[in-house]
Amino acid sequence: MATIITEECINCGACEPECPNTAIYEGGVQWEAADGSMHDAISEDLYYIVPHKCTECVGFFDQEQCAAVCPVDCCVPDPNNSEAEETLIERAKKLHPDKAFPSPLPPELTLFSNPNRQRVPARRPD
Ligand code: SF4
Ligand code: SF4
Repeated sequence: MATIITEECINCGACEPECPNTAIYEGGVQWEAADGSMHDAISEDLYYIVPHKCTECVGFFDQEQCAAVCPVDCCVPDPNNSEAEETLIERAKKLHPDKAFPSPLPPELTLFSNPNRQRVPARRPD
């Protein structure tokens, strides 16, 4: 799943420089796609994550770097956007065509090997 920023965000900006995919933008700022095209901000008021650019840090770290630095723990797995490791590493390859990613990924490059990784909370029965 892509990571999302919740409404608890205090706009401190700590997460933005930590993202290996430049998937995090300040509220109101346009985001740039891999092909260089610019797109309207997803949030006007709060920092936001572009789901098409977020790999949950797969390919780079064993945990989400935005979540690791966020002082209010508002970078969380998106319960509505669950994605497999394979999908996420393919995204990383497209975002970084000049970078070689080892296969299989060693534990330090994928949160899927991290026993402490955040998981989508179980949904309550309706
Ligand atoms: Fe960027 Fe990783 Fe956070 Fe996704 S989880 S927005 S890739 S720092
Ligand atoms: Fe918002 Fe957390 Fe990022 Fe700070 S680190 S801008 S509080 S999401």
